[in-house]
Amino acid sequence: MPLKEYQKKRNFTKTKEPKGRLKKTTDGRFVVQEHQASHLHWDFRLGLDGVLKSWAVPKGIPLKSGLKHLAVQVEDHPADYINFRGTIPQGQYGAGTVKIWDWGTYLPVSQKPLKITAKTKSFKIDMRGKKIQGEYALIRLDKKNWLIFKV
Ligand code: MN
Repeated sequence: MPLKEYQKKRNFTKTKEPKGRLKKTTDGRFVVQEHQASHLHWDFRLGLDGVLKSWAVPKGIPLKSGLKHLAVQVEDHPADYINFRGTIPQGQYGAGTVKIWDWGTYLPVSQKPLKITAKTKSFKIDMRGKKIQGEYALIRLDKKNWLIFKV
């Protein structure tokens, strides 16, 4: 049950976030959400295999090459989260405001088809967003910590 961790953390009678289910319609799309929670960060989400593979990026996605930013992988989010914006109420997981910062599509470069599993050490994707464009790499440092940079 791939979304179990996501659903376990949230009380859907209190938050308007989608409860969600697997849905292939967001495969190949991405979103970056600016999330003003207890700490401001950007959530980088890639539609893949019916979910959104997700990372919290404290410094945001670098727009030029030469900058490597930490990206902390978090639980897979439901496909419907790709459109989520609004306020997560106080006392709920991730309380704060969510805005959509960028969106678009991506294509796998290094692995075709792309798979992101516990064993994935790195991958490259070609980003076609409004702000994020061109080839990006993610390199895993350990279980949850990755670096994201523009190639
Ligand atoms: Mn977040």
